Amino acid sequence: MTFSVTILGSSSALPTSQRFPAAHALNVHERLFLVDCGEGTQIQLRKYKQKFSRLEQIFISHLHGDHVLGLFGLISTLNLLGRTAPLTIYAHAPLQTILNQNLQFFIGDLHFQLEFVPLDNKEKKIIFEDKSLIVESIPLKHRIPSTGFIFREKPKQPNIRKEMIEKYTIPLADIVKIKEGADFISADGQHIPNSDLTFISSPPRSYAYCSDTKYFEKLADMVKDVDLLYHEATFGNDLSQMARDTGHSTATQAAQTAQQANARKLVIGHFSSRYKDTDVLVNEARQIFSETYAAQEGYEFKIESQRMDL
Ligand SMILES: [Zn+2]
Ligand SMILES: [Zn+2]
Repeated sequence: MTFSVTILGSSSALPTSQRFPAAHALNVHERLFLVDCGEGTQIQLRKYKQKFSRLEQIFISHLHGDHVLGLFGLISTLNLLGRTAPLTIYAHAPLQTILNQNLQFFIGDLHFQLEFVPLDNKEKKIIFEDKSLIVESIPLKHRIPSTGFIFREKPKQPNIRKEMIEKYTIPLADIVKIKEGADFISADGQHIPNSDLTFISSPPRSYAYCSDTKYFEKLADMVKDVDLLYHEATFGNDLSQMARDTGHSTATQAAQTAQQANARKLVIGHFSSRYKDTDVLVNEARQIFSETYAAQEGYEFKIESQRMDL
């Protein structure tokens, strides 16, 4: 089942002719979740063949223009397209008033329900959960309140080994219990542990989006063992003072967080327009964390579980 992220925008506040402002399109089992919505996001969605009709929720990390200015245009387009399905937006509270004013002025009547969920930036918490997905918010450290997100697949029930069913003639009622984690006692009184009877076909996968933030040690704990970590790397290490002053991170710091978190893979982005070529940032990060890749418009990163390697 698909679990992948397509980069729609990899620039920081100043877009270039090659880079759009921040936006990621996350495909979870063919459901679409948008993370940040910089200017031009709707065009990027079209260009990279992300279906508008599958969009369920939008997560806005913070209220700097490069992360949010595409939202009004996107909602207007969804309305023109005749959307009727509800849309949920997670963002910091002040956006709600701004959004309502804009929508009333430019659109008038929306044909679909827009649900606004204000983010609480005090601590890491679950903000959404359904049968297949959990989304957590994580407080970041930026010039204004900024929030990261972790998307986690829920574990599927384990599969039962067919040869074990035959070997111990396991009745149907017991198969259900075994799938829920029970051991099995065979007809001759033998105790068979659950781990001998079952296997996990696809371990749950996870993706963390760490938007604008300066480096802080606790972040690694909050994204511990994530499979794909996206982390901003606005600057190189030579501009670490500027990174600190502006509430951003360097490529080295993004790599440190990935390493401390034991992430499987790191994607860096939110590049300053001064970097025409991002290789310098990727190479810097790879000195610390070899599995580092640059976000680039249109790239799709498939998220794979680290536990597949075990
Ligand atoms: Zn930004
Ligand atoms: Zn920002």
